[in-house]
Amino acid sequence: MKGQKHIALLGATGSIGLQTLDIIRRFPERYKATVLTAGSKVDKLIELCREFKPRCAVIAREDLLPRLKFELEPLGIECLAGDNALADCVCHDDIDIAVTATVGYSGLAPTLRAIECGKDIALANKETLVVAGELVKKRLAGSSSRIFPVDSEHSAIAQCLAGEDSSMVERLLITASGGPFRTWEPEQIANACAADALRHPNWNMGQKITVDSASMLNKAFEIIEAHYLFDIEPERIEAVVHPQSIIHSMVEFKDGAVKAQLGMPDMRLPIAYAIGEHHRLPAAAKTMRIEDFCKLTFEKPDYTRFPCLGFAAMALKERGNTACVINAANEIAVAAFLRGEIKFGDIYKTIAHTLEHSDFIPAPDYSDYVASNAEARAKASELISKLQPSCC
Ligand code: NDP
Ligand code: MG
Repeated sequence: MKGQKHIALLGATGSIGLQTLDIIRRFPERYKATVLTAGSKVDKLIELCREFKPRCAVIAREDLLPRLKFELEPLGIECLAGDNALADCVCHDDIDIAVTATVGYSGLAPTLRAIECGKDIALANKETLVVAGELVKKRLAGSSSRIFPVDSEHSAIAQCLAGEDSSMVERLLITASGGPFRTWEPEQIANACAADALRHPNWNMGQKITVDSASMLNKAFEIIEAHYLFDIEPERIEAVVHPQSIIHSMVEFKDGAVKAQLGMPDMRLPIAYAIGEHHRLPAAAKTMRIEDFCKLTFEKPDYTRFPCLGFAAMALKERGNTACVINAANEIAVAAFLRGEIKFGDIYKTIAHTLEHSDFIPAPDYSDYVASNAEARAKASELISKLQPSCC
């Protein structure tokens, strides 16, 4: 890799954003944070801009722009706000790669914009492929953009596939920690509250993905993500529960070989591998002493206690806007759950109810996804307003 790579980091203030900045901080000869964005944490964004001195800072909430300008314009940093600015900031001539680390549906528009301008993408925002995988693939086919996965499982698969003949792949095995409720009884899971769901055994992540890990919808999303990233039929992608989170995923080949990628649960490794275009960076992440892990165990996922897992097969069978509806209903339900308004079991119910009451669109274009997302959010919110508040 030559020279210093200029990065547009979307979601700089979040878990993936801050870990990406840790890599940039430690490898200044390789990387420069040229654009930093946030949703609403304006003070954190200002602090990061003071340290990293990007060319441009963008905040989603337009009412926070005056404060951003007041603090950063004297430093010569351009300040912008709003969804259009968030999408357009990836296309500037000086940008080499966009790291999409915003949460939820908000990742879709900037990713499509990056593809439109032929920029490479280090994709953390899995919801982009969940919501509109078909559209993203179609747009990628006519672009010079490349997607490098940040999600640890997909990074692991990419590492296992390096140098292999893709026609020899038999199955992708996506590992799952099982989350905080792995050993809980169904009744306990149904009534769990936010503090329980946020206690992830192995990973320290943003709140939304942590709740998705507890419901295992995160794993369903990762099956969908793997299908679009690696062009493997859904029937040949399986989830395997591996409570230690040391094996980040595996690929089984047609000759019977299984390749696995192991490492400590530390997202800086897949982030560095993605922004380095699948080249390794020395000391990017924590090193591992394999002898400290005398037991690596595996279990079959339990689709009865974790019914959200079943949404992957449903979405990949029905296609159209099904996964867009699932994602939208889940975002509304998770936010309500985190506010203490619904029980954990209501997340699944909200998604299932919203699917039942949403119109199916077989071949959505971008405007259909926008409409379907808005409609599903409204339906999910309406249902939630009728549910009993959580007792937590
Ligand atoms: P966080 O919640 O920690 O961070 C989200 C970031 O997105 C913040 O910078 C936030 O800004 C910003 N943001 C929130 N809403 C909007 C919006 N509407 N428009 C623009 N920006 C917004 O999330 P994570 O870092 O945990 O996750 C980011 C993505 O990466 C998710 O898609 C997740 O699934 C994926 N991922 C995360 C992993 C992890 O270890 N954390 C692992 C694998 C994948 P602000 O701080 O101002 O609110
Ligand atoms: Mg993951």
